[in-house]
Amino acid sequence: MKKLILTLFCLLAIIFCTAQVTAVNDDVNMAEPRSEENIIMTVRGPIPASAFGKALVHEHVMCDFSGAAKTSELRYNTDDVVKTMLPFLQAVKQRGFTGFVDCTPAWLGRDAEVLFRLAGLTDLHILTNTGYYGAGNDKFLPSHAFTESADQLAARWVREWEQGIDGTAIKPGFIKISVDKGPLSQIDRKIVRAAAKTHLQTGLTIVCHTGEAQAALGVLKNVRSQGVHPSALIIVHADAIADPAVRFQLAKAGAWLEYDGVKAESIETHVKLIRETLRAGFGHRLLLSHDAGWYRVGEPGGARAKIRSYTTISDQLIPALKRTGISEAVLEKLLVDNPAQAFTVRLRKR
Ligand SMILES: [Zn+2]
Repeated sequence: MKKLILTLFCLLAIIFCTAQVTAVNDDVNMAEPRSEENIIMTVRGPIPASAFGKALVHEHVMCDFSGAAKTSELRYNTDDVVKTMLPFLQAVKQRGFTGFVDCTPAWLGRDAEVLFRLAGLTDLHILTNTGYYGAGNDKFLPSHAFTESADQLAARWVREWEQGIDGTAIKPGFIKISVDKGPLSQIDRKIVRAAAKTHLQTGLTIVCHTGEAQAALGVLKNVRSQGVHPSALIIVHADAIADPAVRFQLAKAGAWLEYDGVKAESIETHVKLIRETLRAGFGHRLLLSHDAGWYRVGEPGGARAKIRSYTTISDQLIPALKRTGISEAVLEKLLVDNPAQAFTVRLRKR
């Protein structure tokens, strides 16, 4: 009798364990266990991914649109940038957000020290990046981007990861690149491949500005061709891809869809887009942000009056989503779990 009970017990245990494994696999193919070994690299150093908290994944503290030939730290006063942008970041913190990803790349106004100071003043987990911005008809690319190979560009970006940015000890938390619309130009393809090569050497996530279907699919193809799994790729401005079939094709491949154009006038549109994406089963691939800010280098006082706040998601979008019946658990997934997974430094090979 004892033997029979023991056998039954073992059988039940096996069935239970198998069910658990199946449930985990069904949940999200790429779901990684939360572990203190998973880190996110902030401007103040590594933190456990589980400490990132509620996060805005695509914002800008400062931009300089003068172009790679002109941009220089002599064009702005860092104290003025910090003083101007501090209240905007404090507003983020006051609303319970703790993660803030600054997507301004090098040659477009990236200043790691400004972000480091703001992180210290607000206690936000701020991320900066390595990589180059190929959109804007190559205006923001330094001259060496045209002459060097993808391997040489990747070596520059890997060096920032290993040694720090611009003579500081501050490390990038991700790779920010960008491509023009339409089929990838030769240089844009090189930049995407350089980003993939950098990922393979660092585990940093690739965040790519695309903005329309053809460019996004071209980026996906080139990232994969280098042996990188699409879960290491965030498709920036995915909310600008009109055809849901393309968005879902990207998500199905494993890429992240970043709906980052949230603003007061777009709430209704974004509620629809988010609900449509959840219904299609891609909530685990979705990221939200404002693409807002920023201190405008070259304009008096950084054009204070034109700076867009980073608070529309908390003040308008979240309440609107709740009104349609979206649960706290889903919001937690979109604003906490997904950002932590997306920005965890981790090698993702095909
Ligand atoms: Zn942006």
